[in-house]
Amino acid sequence: MWFRQDLRLGDNPALHAAAKNGDVLPVYILDNEAAGLWSMGGASRVWLHHSLTKLNASLDKKLSIHSGRSLDILNDLIERHDIEAVYWNRCYEPWSIDRDKEIKKRLGDRTIQAHSFSGSLLWEPWEVLKADGTPYRVFTPFYRKGCLNAMAPRTPRPKPKTLKLIANEDSLRIADLALTPSKKRWDEPLIKSWQVGENAARRRLNHFIEDGLTGYKTGRNFPSRKNISRLSPHLHWGEISPNMAWHAVRATGESDDVDTFCAELGWREFSHSLLYHFPELPTKNFQTKFDAFPWTNESANLEAWRRGMSGVPIIDAGMRELWQTGYMHNRVRMIVASFLVKNLMIDWREGEKWFWDTLFDADLANNSASWQWVAGSGADAAPYFRVFNPVTQAEKFDPDGNYIRQFVPELAELPTKHLFAPWIASSEILHAANVVLGESYPQPVVDLKLSREATLAAFQTLKKSA
Ligand code: FAD
Repeated sequence: MWFRQDLRLGDNPALHAAAKNGDVLPVYILDNEAAGLWSMGGASRVWLHHSLTKLNASLDKKLSIHSGRSLDILNDLIERHDIEAVYWNRCYEPWSIDRDKEIKKRLGDRTIQAHSFSGSLLWEPWEVLKADGTPYRVFTPFYRKGCLNAMAPRTPRPKPKTLKLIANEDSLRIADLALTPSKKRWDEPLIKSWQVGENAARRRLNHFIEDGLTGYKTGRNFPSRKNISRLSPHLHWGEISPNMAWHAVRATGESDDVDTFCAELGWREFSHSLLYHFPELPTKNFQTKFDAFPWTNESANLEAWRRGMSGVPIIDAGMRELWQTGYMHNRVRMIVASFLVKNLMIDWREGEKWFWDTLFDADLANNSASWQWVAGSGADAAPYFRVFNPVTQAEKFDPDGNYIRQFVPELAELPTKHLFAPWIASSEILHAANVVLGESYPQPVVDLKLSREATLAAFQTLKKSA
């Protein structure tokens, strides 16, 4: 059983089938070479370290750990352990698909069976197509006509009842993979906000159902409210299947909150479908007219954005949440992404790369589809002229300023009215709150109005040239 992005025993179709057919050698391979440009970022490696530790514990410490080219390692294990068949759940990154196709063929050449299963998506991307057989490019018909009219998602299966495990004496230790930093241990405070692994993922889902689902439809937009599941890293690593989340939430009854949550899982499906059908999504504008966009790519502004020192409080709160917890609330992801692309005029791929390195839930499909959505260059994207105003967004979605105060403590004493745009507060108000702009907190790196106008003017030139 080759574990990849399905680090769980419950509702694991490949493991289920393997366990039914014989003794099982559980394997994990760190294959950085195949991933190329998209080899795991720093935060992902840290999560993986902890997730493998949990998985290994649930497999009686028999998880066989390896690093290198997957095909070579599988071949070697097949030689030494009298293996008849290899089982895995499918992954959808273009590089995984290429690698797995080759492995399937090469195993077949030596009469080893290769069995792959659907374990990470509710619907396979090649199953949800328009009547003419082409992929959907717009979310609503994809979800409503394509997904909801297709077969209902598989109901989750329990852990295999019997699992006879084979141990491999030549396994590396998880520590040998060097997934966590060796010197400056930045990972330790970061992972503290999370519990990792299959059991933790189930607890998180149950907790969300008890304490977050009611009010999800509206509350999911407010970063200080409890109405989000925070399941995204667990889903990315397959510590829980989307089927488990879908069915557990549906079992609570019918409501707008349930429908909205399931539709968000639907966005995850849509992103994966886009990546499957348009494998260049992470690197190329989906709408090619954006290729001519005159990005400024001003490095000082990019650095201020990354560090949460842009001088715009909601942006800095979001970027510091990311830096301190490896996560950022969805509403704030949209605001910081819009600011990077449409106020700083920095190429969305710079933001995509930063998120890739820093998010615990960094996911090639969701990350690239979402960045292109915000930039306006994607499929079914936000219109280019929708530039989120970070001040009005913060007033609306962080009305008490709790989120900003949590992550930008140097502004905590400002009255809420002045918290969202401190640069227009009077010097008396700033002084009373111990804020010195340009010293204790930066001046904004750009003028919001002028930068918005400059971006819209640049978009207009694209429209003319299209
Ligand atoms: P909930 O609101 O509880 O939603 C439940 C699940 O539905 C999520 O765990 C996620 O799997 C899925 N989901 C929710 N919203 C979206 C969405 N907009 N698109 C796709 N799936 C969604 N999500 C990632 O998992 N990995 C990424 O790398 C990623 N990068 C993003 C980059 C940008 C610029 C933006 C705007 C969004 C990105 N998202 C990404 C989508 C979304 O922000 C996260 O999935 C969500 O914030 C996770 O929090 P949650 O689990 O509490 O979500």
